Amino acid sequence: MTGDRTPANTLKRRGLMFVLSSPSGAGKTTISRMLLGADPEIKLSVSVTTRPMRPGERDGVDYHFATDAEFDQMVADDDFYEWAHVFGHRYGTPKGHIRSGLKDGQDWLFDIDWQGTQQLIQKDKQDVVAVFILPPSIDELRRRLETRAQDSAAVIDARMDRARAEISHWDAYDYVVINDDVDACFAKVREILHAERRKRRRQTGLIDFVRAMMG
Ligand code: 5GP
Repeated sequence: MTGDRTPANTLKRRGLMFVLSSPSGAGKTTISRMLLGADPEIKLSVSVTTRPMRPGERDGVDYHFATDAEFDQMVADDDFYEWAHVFGHRYGTPKGHIRSGLKDGQDWLFDIDWQGTQQLIQKDKQDVVAVFILPPSIDELRRRLETRAQDSAAVIDARMDRARAEISHWDAYDYVVINDDVDACFAKVREILHAERRKRRRQTGLIDFVRAMMG
């Protein structure tokens, strides 16, 4: 045995699909970035979207930006795990390497809305861990959207309407975390991820480990 790695914590495990959903402005993107920066075992599933790129976004990093025709083609080719209409544009999760990655113990982070989450749960319930992030209040949510200042008042109103609709689906999630302090929220999200990795059904190396132990 080398260093402090014991056989028990290097056991083979199945990866999981870690879904973070929230209304825009509740801090999901910040929490996602913190998680990706802190945890090398989880990778972002980059979605495909037909919406225009926002300032500061990069193609292939934040989203794969696609034309309507390209998106249609991907739907026709059954290239999506799930897809949905959001704000008049389409967003989808390309299947890509997700399924094979899960087998190899790769965890995937999904920054998707409740519709996408429902589709993932229907397809692969065993592998999905769904976390919903709530803002501390509706007023605070509006304040956060306004200070982001990327959107017009009309767009902010539309986002507030959508936020209420999104929040109404809170009870379809495995976990709900209130984001009144970003560091505390992040700590809770990490605890959830760590505990879910330890679930017995994900520890695919356990059978061999116990067999070897018992001789
Ligand atoms: P935004 O345009 O602000 O980046 O995202 C708008 C909404 O689309 C967010 O609520 C986000 O979670 C959702 N979204 C992003 N990617 C996907 C996806 O692949 N599938 C689904 N269903 N929703 C997505």
